[in-house]
Amino acid sequence: MRIYVYPGSFDPVTNGHIDIIDRAAKQCDKLIVAVLVNSKKKPVFTIEERVELLKCALAGRPNIEIDSFTGLTVDYLKRKNASVIIRGLRAVSDFENEFQMAILNKQLSPDIETIFMMTSLNYLYLSSSVVRELAANNGNIDGLVPDCIKDRVIEKLRSLKK
Ligand code: ADP
Repeated sequence: MRIYVYPGSFDPVTNGHIDIIDRAAKQCDKLIVAVLVNSKKKPVFTIEERVELLKCALAGRPNIEIDSFTGLTVDYLKRKNASVIIRGLRAVSDFENEFQMAILNKQLSPDIETIFMMTSLNYLYLSSSVVRELAANNGNIDGLVPDCIKDRVIEKLRSLKK
């Protein structure tokens, strides 16, 4: 059974992430979307909220699981018997960081591959931080995040601004 893991902050999940998730899920038997706890970034949504938003956004997809983890991604993959880390690439600016992480993970665990998927054109400029910025400032986030999480994202960002 081919188990892949898509790790990330998902603060919050966007339609750019969903696009990568749907495409990656076709390449494996099970895709685990895993929220990374403890990244260097200071998240706006708690880990429980981010998992909850992912669950809502991905409900009904049969071979997708949602989880969260702490520690090294390669250790998490081993615990889950997974073989591949999925990452998305947008602009050249993503490249250096992703390259560094992929090399590091390869050194830590040579059996684990990182597979990169290029963004779809529509999501080239979409990031969680763009969504947060718009939601906090009365901008329209229609089409940028899954419909079922839209209101919760707006509510949270506006409440933080008060
Ligand atoms: P991280 O903090 O690990 O970068 P993110 O939630 O920001 O977590 O992103 C997770 C992964 O999804 C990263 O590989 C990122 O490059 C990718 N990604 C984010 N937004 C998009 C998008 N619009 N199109 C394609 N990939 C994306």
